[in-house]
Amino acid sequence: MSEAIPGSGASSDGPVVDGPHDPEHDPRASYALEPEYVARLTDRILSTTGATSQVFSPINGAPVANIPQSSTDDVAEAFRRARVAQAAWARVSVDERARILHRLHDIVLDRQAEIMDLIQLESGKARKHAFDEPLHIALTARYYARTAHQHLDTQRRPGVVPVLTRVELNRVPKGVVGIISPWNYPFTMALCDGLPALLAGNAVVAKPDAQTMLSALLGAQLLEDAGFPRDLWQVVAGPGRELGTPIIQRADYICFTGSTATGKIIAKQAAERLIGCSLELGGKNPILVLRDADVERAAEGAVRACFSNAGQLCVSTERMFVADAVYDRFVERFVARTKAMSLGATMDWDADMGTLISADQLETVTAHVEDAVAKGARVLAGGKARPDLAPYYFEPTILEGVTPEMTCFGNETFGPVVSIYRFHDEADAIARANDGEYGLNGSVYTRDTVRGRAIARQVKCGTVNVNEAFGATFASIDAPMGGMRESGMGRRQGSEGIHRYTETQSVATQRLIRFGPMLGMSDEGYAKFMTASLRLMDKLGRA
Ligand code: NAD
Repeated sequence: MSEAIPGSGASSDGPVVDGPHDPEHDPRASYALEPEYVARLTDRILSTTGATSQVFSPINGAPVANIPQSSTDDVAEAFRRARVAQAAWARVSVDERARILHRLHDIVLDRQAEIMDLIQLESGKARKHAFDEPLHIALTARYYARTAHQHLDTQRRPGVVPVLTRVELNRVPKGVVGIISPWNYPFTMALCDGLPALLAGNAVVAKPDAQTMLSALLGAQLLEDAGFPRDLWQVVAGPGRELGTPIIQRADYICFTGSTATGKIIAKQAAERLIGCSLELGGKNPILVLRDADVERAAEGAVRACFSNAGQLCVSTERMFVADAVYDRFVERFVARTKAMSLGATMDWDADMGTLISADQLETVTAHVEDAVAKGARVLAGGKARPDLAPYYFEPTILEGVTPEMTCFGNETFGPVVSIYRFHDEADAIARANDGEYGLNGSVYTRDTVRGRAIARQVKCGTVNVNEAFGATFASIDAPMGGMRESGMGRRQGSEGIHRYTETQSVATQRLIRFGPMLGMSDEGYAKFMTASLRLMDKLGRA
């Protein structure tokens, strides 16, 4: 079990777990949170309904917490409070905002055990995959805190008349941003997009997924601990189909992470109000293993690419295209590594892969594999549910011989299932990788990194990693991340990730001359004068 939970006793700042600390890591051990700890977190939810929704842990099916539910009126109140807080926050200096954000970096690293406990309890993922979440938030907080001025300072731009037209570009906060996030990375997906929004002077109304509210609420608590005003980050709880519309009706911008189907609904509603939105959606992500690839490295990377968080990861790999020359060796190594994985839904560091989060997820994954097998696919590893490990556990699964009529050929499984294909011709492999509607993340394995980058340019994905699964792009926060085609719109991270939360305002100050005939000039004389000026400017090389 975790460092935050010494034995079965209390820790000073952690989610105290009752019940047996089982040295044999029995997945059926009962983990429970102290009611006071849960109450401190759920207190942040704006809820006047009196209704609650019970959350169960996928580790053992045991109840974790009762989550108060918000109504449309509660959403309205969340926006009212957020607007008041935002007006004051927008007047706080960028330096001060950045200082607070940087403090979050330290807090998240200090309290990582507590964060990972909650993530694991709610999602059932392996502890090493839970660690990716505080890691990603620390990276994001540090990056934006250190680059705040670069993104937000007023910039000078060349004016139309050199020297006499002075142009400044201001970054004005949008106001209140609505953030709707999924359950798969419940801490970082609830928080990471909000950090640049706050830094840019906005407030946030967040609606995390109902299955993983506590991880998201802990994120809100840590923001306050870092020094962000409490009312700047409002949290509402409830089904997305009920709270989504009231949020979009009030927000100045919407940041959504989730499925492509929901993303389309949100885009339509945002369009009706003419507010901006960024959509981080699904994928059917490919890896290309070229003939000169380091096979061992590719096999190691493939395990992480396909089975991190049991494949419930937007940038997870579900299709592998492997060159003929290395196919047999690669498959042998990939299968061997997959079969050697340690499986289990426990809260220690031992498991290489945790469980799926829900019965719905298990149903989809099982249906995809059963459909493929029924239509002739071969199972090279895994292939079945493991209720002996946890109620929704499904083995890491490698399929061969997948064909277009099988559901998992082009549809996102969002589980630990990968289809592996042989290729003879690289151009054909790239075309197959680009097949379909998605375009989120891709990888290329090759010893020739120059060629790897050239091939990456031909892969229609928002991020492409050479000799790595997804971590190289995802953790490089200065690099924008997002999807092409049906994998999304807009980008998180980098300057795009913060500028989406600002309105660009151009202010031009005109000196001495004005735009029109001067000094008794006729309109025709003015036109001639301007024509000559344009030609001169072009000769001088002005943009
Ligand atoms: P989902 O779209 O069902 O739910 C995501 C969020 O949207 C939840 O908070 C949910 O309550 C809310 N929601 C549901 N219906 C809504 C509606 N009509 N209006 C407003 N909000 C609504 O997605 P999911 O199944 O929970 O998440 C998995 C999907 O998310 C996968 O497709 C995965 O690829 C994608 N995802 C993408 C990224 C990325 O960065 N591109 C990251 C994580 C997950």
